[in-house]
Amino acid sequence: EVRVRFCPSPTGTPHVGMVRTALFNWAHARHHGGKLVFRIEDTDAARDSEESYDQLLEAMRWLGIDWDEGVEVGGPDGPYRQSQRADIYQEVIAKLKEAGHIYESFSTAEEIAQRHRDAGRDPQLGYDGYDRDLTEEQKASYRAEGREPTWRLRMPEEDLSFTDLVRGEITFKAGSTPDFVVVRANGQPLYTLVNPVDDALMRITHVLRGEDILSSTPRQIALYRALIEIGVAEHVPEFGHLPYVMGEGSKKLSKRDPQANLFHYRDQGFTPEGMVNYLALLGWGYSADEDIFSREQLVERFTAEDVNPNPARVDLKKATAINADHIRLLPEAELAERMIPYLQQAEVLGETVTEQQRSLVAAATPLVQTRMNLLGEAADLLGFLFTADEDLVVTDDALKKLGDDPVGVLERAIDEVAALPEVSFTAGALEAALREAIVEDMGIKPRLAFGPLRSAVSGRRISPPLFESMELLGKPSSLARLRALR
Ligand code: GLU
Repeated sequence: EVRVRFCPSPTGTPHVGMVRTALFNWAHARHHGGKLVFRIEDTDAARDSEESYDQLLEAMRWLGIDWDEGVEVGGPDGPYRQSQRADIYQEVIAKLKEAGHIYESFSTAEEIAQRHRDAGRDPQLGYDGYDRDLTEEQKASYRAEGREPTWRLRMPEEDLSFTDLVRGEITFKAGSTPDFVVVRANGQPLYTLVNPVDDALMRITHVLRGEDILSSTPRQIALYRALIEIGVAEHVPEFGHLPYVMGEGSKKLSKRDPQANLFHYRDQGFTPEGMVNYLALLGWGYSADEDIFSREQLVERFTAEDVNPNPARVDLKKATAINADHIRLLPEAELAERMIPYLQQAEVLGETVTEQQRSLVAAATPLVQTRMNLLGEAADLLGFLFTADEDLVVTDDALKKLGDDPVGVLERAIDEVAALPEVSFTAGALEAALREAIVEDMGIKPRLAFGPLRSAVSGRRISPPLFESMELLGKPSSLARLRALR
């Protein structure tokens, strides 16, 4: 059975690179009919926060990335927060000590650097293995000096190779990875220990994670081998290192960059469908000629082996275009529902939405579905429908390029609209009457004929289709607005 995991540290707001990692693990699990384990690596009390934890849950739920075992849902290998697993780690540490896989190290950083200098080596080189074979007397005398040892893993003295699912064969030369600390002097285990221990205990088969931690993989594999020897692990999992996510202009996407924050996209009106599609393209492709796909299609085709090892680049234009396509694909009623929070956020709608407002949003939805890239644009496109006639502000932009005789056009339109009976106040009837009067009778080019009307009715230069908008506004409102601009 395929078992993958997503194991973020709860710090900061959800980062797109991190969420992409979650998505790929999820897609891998779902594609293979396996399980996704969601574990929280909250071992850094100074940086971790409950707020970040809540945001992680929110991010996963918003995108529809569901997990089979882990926080909130439980499972056979819990608890799923590392802060609650101290006893488990101590048991494993005791076994590693007993089998001699980890050893006490008393060297200070200065001593290590000095030894390198004395031997004519770069003092920056890492730990030199000095404490590997200390005698009991040596250890006792260090202790007598008041030193408290850390514990290091004995690295194998041979090349370490593995086949990365994304990058192919990778070899770390013997001696290139120093024996590393797994337990602090105060007895606390480090990430380098707890991460593989949990993967082993949770029977993870595939580790898909960011390229930024590729350098820790030889340590992880070495620790795994020790865990197998002491009966804690059964096998070394397969690894796949996902490409970096670069910002626009090829800079590394920094944590503070708004483009890095998943919620920034949601706030602008990315749909979860659009976001999933876009995130998947950060390192993966659906097919040579198709960029738009659903969650189901992603699951159907996704394999880690198809991930591109080259850095992926954020492309907001493309992201927006993808989102627009997903907006087009939503059922109308669903789109109407989804626009409402954005209309509220922009204060086009209040906290409570009346039935009448709801049905007006629903009626206007077909007018904007093909005109929107982001749900947040709903406020700009539909605001005029929810504004009182006397409060409508006509933008400067909407007052430009109104043709030679905007007043004449408006006057004629007012006459025509006034003459239409309420019962036949439909887009079709409005279009027929206004076209005949302004285009045919007055001889004004269609391109210029309706600009003044659009500005008057919506206050904008760009709006949903004019005649449909007037129908939704109704006769009294349409007339009032035409009169106001005349
Ligand atoms: N908690 C680690 C991180 O957020 C997980 C690394 C891994 O996937 O192994 O970077």
